[in-house]
Amino acid sequence: MDNESWACSSVEKDLTRVVSKLEQLHENAAADIGDIATQMSELVEVLSRAEQLVTTLNSSTQVSQDDPMGDGVSMQVETEPTAPQRLTERQVESVRNAIARCNERVQKLSTEHRDLHGSISKIGKAIDRNFSADFSSTMRVDVLQDEENLMLLNKAIAKHYCRQGMDDVARTLIRESKMSPEHAQDVFDSEREFADIYGIWVKIQKRDLTDALKWAKMYSQQLSDRHSLIEFRLHRMRFMQLVSYGLDSQREAISYARLNFKKFAVRYEHEIANLMASFIYLPSGLENSPYKHFMGQEMWTELSFIFLKDACQLLGISKNSALSVVVNAGCTALPALLNIKQVMQSRQVLGMWNGCDELPIEIDLQPEFRFHSIFACPILRQQTSEDNPPKKLTCGHVISNDALHKLSVGHILKCPYCPVEQNAEEAVRIYF
Ligand SMILES: [Zn+2]
Repeated sequence: MDNESWACSSVEKDLTRVVSKLEQLHENAAADIGDIATQMSELVEVLSRAEQLVTTLNSSTQVSQDDPMGDGVSMQVETEPTAPQRLTERQVESVRNAIARCNERVQKLSTEHRDLHGSISKIGKAIDRNFSADFSSTMRVDVLQDEENLMLLNKAIAKHYCRQGMDDVARTLIRESKMSPEHAQDVFDSEREFADIYGIWVKIQKRDLTDALKWAKMYSQQLSDRHSLIEFRLHRMRFMQLVSYGLDSQREAISYARLNFKKFAVRYEHEIANLMASFIYLPSGLENSPYKHFMGQEMWTELSFIFLKDACQLLGISKNSALSVVVNAGCTALPALLNIKQVMQSRQVLGMWNGCDELPIEIDLQPEFRFHSIFACPILRQQTSEDNPPKKLTCGHVISNDALHKLSVGHILKCPYCPVEQNAEEAVRIYF
């Protein structure tokens, strides 16, 4: 087991302990509160039967509502001394007993709750103990001392906010970082399209399809050229939404279907027939029908993400901001970087890292972080780079520039694969 999994399982153990403690407490508390409630209501019943007491009772026996968390700190049952003069000695005694019992339970709850706080704070300590909180060793602070680099970082952050419609935050950052007007303009220009899409995405999640349907109508042809399902899905959801409003919206739902499903009639014939059958369930309500999944939040969330993906694809924009890609990729890379830094430190070869622009190790990121094809030289078994780009030989084989120089004698190069002799100068750089 590597270090991280060991740390994770160690924290997980502590966490499991607290969770089971919490569940136990929850169970006990529920039982205790149930008991208290029963005792109080029994008391109320007994007292209300004593006819002459009814009026004073309501004002004298009450539980403080100031403490909804139930930790009992301010939860005390109070009695007013006016009532007892009309009660017999025994009645007073039993009222007092009942109240004492309730207070005792409340005290117990409060103590247990305090204990739990201790256990929860231990989790934080366990995390600190098992994970490194100090990432400074992997940072290249010097990089941000360069004004241009710092501006690029601020720009990436501003773009991220701008994408999410938080223009005011982006503007404040631009102002405070004294970004040049050209850079500032670029922030808004480059993210405007996404910001619109993002706004619609948020609305879909809030079950408002108006803008999404408008957008889909505007791009209807392009969407259908790309075989995107989103336009039909949006109409389908709107239709089900109307049906879900009940009998009052039946007429509207029918005319909506007539107007909007026509152009999908061939492709989604079966699906549309299915949707129409939902009217059968109108009288008893859609939530008790096989169509109830249309009401579920997952369906809306899924729809919003399909919209985001298809809209971004259509407009040729990335659905993630540059900043979030960098942060997420960085999180994947961080453990490996911390490890290698330790090794480098212990062997006193730290200087090697600071000198170059690339990382000293290869880090495998998920496919979602791969935006371009990469080419590894089959001779040197190294990934090609700007300094060592891939070159296509006249025979059609591709090797890296460094390999080409190593293999050629003078201008003559014998291809290591076919093996055609050729002029090394004629190899051309290729781009992926
Ligand atoms: Zn060849």
